[in-house]
This record gives sequence, structure tokens and C-alpha cells, in this order.
Amino acid sequence: MNYDVLIAGGGPAGCRAAGLIAGSGYKVMVAEEHRDIGEPLQCAGLVSPRTLKTAGISRDIVLNEVHGAFIHSPGGEKLAFRGKKSYALVIDRAAFDRGLAEKARGSGAEIITGVRLDVRGCGPEKVHVVLKSRKKEISAAARLLIGADGANSQAARFIGASRSSEVIRMYAVEVEMKCHDKDMVHIFLGRNTAPGWFGWVIPVGSGHARAGIGVSGSDSHPACYFKKMVDSYPGIFNGMKVVRHTGGAVPIGIPPRIYGDKIMLVGDAACQTKPISGGGLFLGLLGAELCSQVASKALSRESFSMEDLSEYQRLWEKKMGKEIKNALWHRNIFLSMTDHEMDTVIRFLSRPFWQYTIATHGDIDYPSWLSGRLSFAGPWMEKFVRARFRKVLNYALPVEF
Ligand SMILES: Cc1cc2nc3c(=O)[nH]c(=O)nc-3n(C[C@H](O)[C@H](O)[C@H](O)COP(=O)(O)OP(=O)(O)OC[C@H]3O[C@@H](n4cnc5c(N)ncnc54)[C@H](O)[C@@H]3O)c2cc1C
Repeated sequence: MNYDVLIAGGGPAGCRAAGLIAGSGYKVMVAEEHRDIGEPLQCAGLVSPRTLKTAGISRDIVLNEVHGAFIHSPGGEKLAFRGKKSYALVIDRAAFDRGLAEKARGSGAEIITGVRLDVRGCGPEKVHVVLKSRKKEISAAARLLIGADGANSQAARFIGASRSSEVIRMYAVEVEMKCHDKDMVHIFLGRNTAPGWFGWVIPVGSGHARAGIGVSGSDSHPACYFKKMVDSYPGIFNGMKVVRHTGGAVPIGIPPRIYGDKIMLVGDAACQTKPISGGGLFLGLLGAELCSQVASKALSRESFSMEDLSEYQRLWEKKMGKEIKNALWHRNIFLSMTDHEMDTVIRFLSRPFWQYTIATHGDIDYPSWLSGRLSFAGPWMEKFVRARFRKVLNYALPVEF
């Protein structure tokens, strides 16, 4: 079995890359270890309208539209903002994945399911893999391999790409629950509520919602925090009935290398996720576009060296590097906050001017458009300045100013 490109993983990043490369006339195969594309579900399915456009998927899969959020601070402060536009869409995530797979097939890519791809070695001309199904194992080779195999990528380990700087562990559920404001999501903050991350409720419509929590830097299972969060907010979770459990992990950070000899990584495997929300669908699609661009160029030139493929990393960093660094910077400030400081920030941002600013400039794909402005919000600015000029301030102002 010889291919131009083999892709490990039939998630959104893998299918998008497959469709684009096959569309340029190359022989592409995607191996997906699960039997059904899009299953098991590991997602809250909240994306920007831009994500659907980028994927070329119709709005038929949209279940609800989000116009704002309630942000609950640990001490009981509540920031609400609501705008006119749809900040986010709640989608049928499995249908989204299936849509991308159908598009890839339509462009000529072959997608096989129930088959695990293991990278075995790199020869002078080809990457060699084993395709394992329940019944058999077959060898295959390709001129190029794309690792779109998610957060726990074997392809990333094979090329020695160091792991992401942080992995957020998540527990999530689909529930039957009454949501009073159907177009508003809830975000729950607090070191004891969701250490290092946040909890969420996303109304889906027809008495359904998606709820979950992420944690970082804690040994306890996120499900324990979820239970505590549900108990702490009886007014919101009253009468909740769990209909499906999901969960998973989201890697965040900037890996130093997302390519190797004849191999490129894309999507969660390349840590193409948002450090503030953990969303990876939009960035995975962008990564797939850049990866496909470099792959098609390498295939047409017949050259797949590290040097050739390093263009992918350069393009990725040019496109999203600044945005991700900015988000990591703000995340570090968030991590340094005490519960009391979170209360102060949320109380401060509840003023009409800041509510308006958030509603006007908030964008879930480009949080820097808002975070730059929030840097001027009193208590946030205090943390920001202190973090940026820590050394100087600690010398000049050794006590809290
Ligand atoms: C609880 C939770 C909620 C989330 N909510 C959101 C959200 O609301 N919005 C958003 O944008 N993002 C969200 N994310 C992140 C989003 O789900 C991921 O960023 C996205 O799925 C990444 O796409 P991907 O194609 O890179 O990887 P995946 O979707 O993980 O796909 C990788 C695929 O590779 C397969 N695979 C792995 N190894 C192999 C192998 N060796 N051989 C063959 N197949 C293999 C897996 O079965 C999987 O299907 C959430 C994540 C979690 C865990």
C-alpha cells in the first residue's frame, strides 16, 4: 500500500488536511482508529461562526446561538454581558466531523475507520507505518505522514516533539436541564471550583445543555470538582439529569517543533488550541490549511526534508504565534490570581463601560482583540503591570501597591 500522504486520525484536522491535499491531486489516505467518525464525542461543540465558514460546513448542524455569558466569580460576583451578534454557535460536533470527512472523500481522499496507524520508521524515501484493525495488520508507506492523532499523538512522540507545556484535564456531560437564558453560557471561576481552568454550562435548546469543567495542576479527578460545582450552584443545576458522559484532555502551549523528517503534526497533536478556552476546532482547521499548503509544495518538488517542512512551523507561528503567546501571557496572570482578586476583577468588569467593551470586542477565536483593552481595567492592569515589571516593582514597591 503506497500513498503520497498518510494521515493518522480522522478528526477535524486530519479530514480537513486530507480534503485539501487530495483536492490538489495527490493520493491520500486517512486512518481513524474508531469505527465511526466523530465518536466518541469529546467536545462541548462551541465554535465561532467563522469556524463553520472555514470548514465549509453548512449551518444545518447549528443547534443554538450564543449571544453572551454569565461569569461567576468564586465569591458570588456575577458579570453578565450580552450583545446583538452571535459570539458562538452550539453545534452537533459529530455531524461537523462527518461533514469534513465527506468533503475529504468528495475530494478523492480515502478514509478507513476502525484502523489504528502506528508509525514504524522513516526510510530515505518513505515513512513506514502499520495499519492495525481487529482482524489484521498491514504495512503501508507514504512519501509524507501527517499526525492528526489528537492530544496523545503517537506521531508527535515518534518525531520527538516535546509535549505541550500543559494539559488541561476535562470532565463533561450532556444533561437535561432547564436553562432560563437560552442564549447565554455560564462560566464558573475559582481556585477551589476549577483550579487552573473554569467550569461551564452551554444551553443546547429543547431542555438540554452541555456542562463540564477543566482542571490543571490538581491531582483530583475533574469529575470531583464537577460535582462540587453542581452542588455550589443549585439555582443553575437544579433538576439536572445526566444523559451522557464525555471528557478528555486539551494540550496547551507552544511546542518548539511540529514537524520532523517526512512528518508534520496538525490539530491537537501540534497543540493548535486556544490557551484561554481550550477550543481547538478553529485553530486545527487553520493548522490543516497551512500544513496542506506545505505538503502540496513538498509533494510537487519531491522534497520532504526537515528543512523543507520547517516552512510549516514558520507559517503557523506567523499566523497564530502572537495570538497564542498573548493568550498564554494573560493565562499566566489568571493563574496568579487569588479568589479574592478574581472577585475584584469580575466586580470591576461589571460596570457598564466594561460590559460594553466586552460585548463589542469579544471574539472567541481572537481573544487578544479584547484582552488588549481589558489590560486597562484597574485590577487586571494592576496584575498585568506587576507581572510584566515584577523585578523592578518588587525592588521599588516591595509591598502590595
Ligand atoms: C471536554 C472537551 C470539550 C471541548 N470543547 C471544545 C469546544 O467547545 N470548541 C472547540 O473548538 N474545541 C473544543 N475542544 C477541543 C477540541 O475537541 C479539539 O481541539 C479537536 O477535537 C481537535 O481536533 P483534532 O482533529 O486535532 O483531534 P481529534 O478530534 O482528537 O481527532 C484525533 C483523531 O485521531 C484518532 N486517533 C488517535 N490516534 C490514532 C492512531 N494512532 N491511528 C488512527 N487514529 C488515531 C482519534 O480516534 C481521533 O478521532 C474540547 C475538548 C474537550 C476534551
